Amino acid sequence: MTDRLPQGATIGILGGGQLGRMLSVAAARLGYRSHIFEPGAEPPAGQVAHRVTTAPYEDADALAAFATAVDVVTYEFENVPTAALDVVEAHAPIRPGRRALAVSQDRLAEKDFLNEIGLATAPYAAVDGADDLEAAIARVGVPAILKTRRFGYDGKGQARLAAPDDAAAALAAIAGAPAVLEGFVVFTAEVSVIGARGLDGRVACFDPGENVHEEGILRRTTVPAQLSAARRTDAVLAAGRLLNALDYVGVLGLELFVTPGGLVVNEFAPRVHNSGHWTQQGCTVDQFEQHIRAIAGWPLGDGSRYADVEMLNLIGDDMDDVPAHAADPAAALHLYGKAETRPGRKMGHVNRVLGPVSR
Ligand code: AMP
Repeated sequence: MTDRLPQGATIGILGGGQLGRMLSVAAARLGYRSHIFEPGAEPPAGQVAHRVTTAPYEDADALAAFATAVDVVTYEFENVPTAALDVVEAHAPIRPGRRALAVSQDRLAEKDFLNEIGLATAPYAAVDGADDLEAAIARVGVPAILKTRRFGYDGKGQARLAAPDDAAAALAAIAGAPAVLEGFVVFTAEVSVIGARGLDGRVACFDPGENVHEEGILRRTTVPAQLSAARRTDAVLAAGRLLNALDYVGVLGLELFVTPGGLVVNEFAPRVHNSGHWTQQGCTVDQFEQHIRAIAGWPLGDGSRYADVEMLNLIGDDMDDVPAHAADPAAALHLYGKAETRPGRKMGHVNRVLGPVSR
């Protein structure tokens, strides 16, 4: 094994939300400390991490001090500013590397890259203004979705066009930001593959999960997904191809639409992913440990699944259901320690073991 981080080493994590929290717990289980860098006060990850730096990503001195104090840097969200990464990279390796971040931060670069490596996406066209949008509609057709190139998540920064007449309203909805027009994909299901690639280049993927979104936010993930054996293999191979093409180190989430003609990539996230939380109750090595293993130079878990699982996000007032979930012997609760419940805020999740692997 090469370059394995020694016991007691410190993993720096950019971002202090629930993903950073669960990564910190996994790091601790493998004998590592974690150090969170997060602009917001009292981040959920700070409750379980060894150290927290509270500073904006524009604070180069704070970033340099953080990166000097850790052995490797990873991140729990993909919108870390490039300038911040420049500072960090001078002091510590960043895993996954810059390429994956750069590609995933920009929907246009992402779609170009996916198509270059032979993964199908929805038809798309760049839109920088009203003239472009007209041309894009002519090329892509309607219905379509106008998405900002940057900083979109959970369905934010998006506007739907049912007809060409919706163009002006759609542009106004995204405030004229640089965007991509995507053809609307008629899908039978949404699935995702959580895949990992180690420092040694080996790849391991978890079984695809089937996702249901409500109001643009993930609601539920179920494994196994309702996929034919051939499609399941296609999904895993797509994740493997992406991991290798990016020379990736760590875990990523690849979101796919299932259509009668085959799989179509929606997007990927260069980090642990909400749709991979089921692995906590379904696999010996879950996605969080898998990510720590990858970036710390350990061999990967093989991704095998030993249970059928359903993951339900607890969003906003769903916290009222916690006592009922806690009384369910098949359910494992994961709460994020957020003091304030707000509509649309992810407060926790529950993994319900449905039974042994059915197929
Ligand atoms: P996104 O933020 O791109 O992941 O989009 C959020 C959700 O909107 C997806 O999970 C889909 O349910 C839906 N969606 C996004 N893009 C498309 C598309 N091109 N065609 C159909 N549905 C889409």
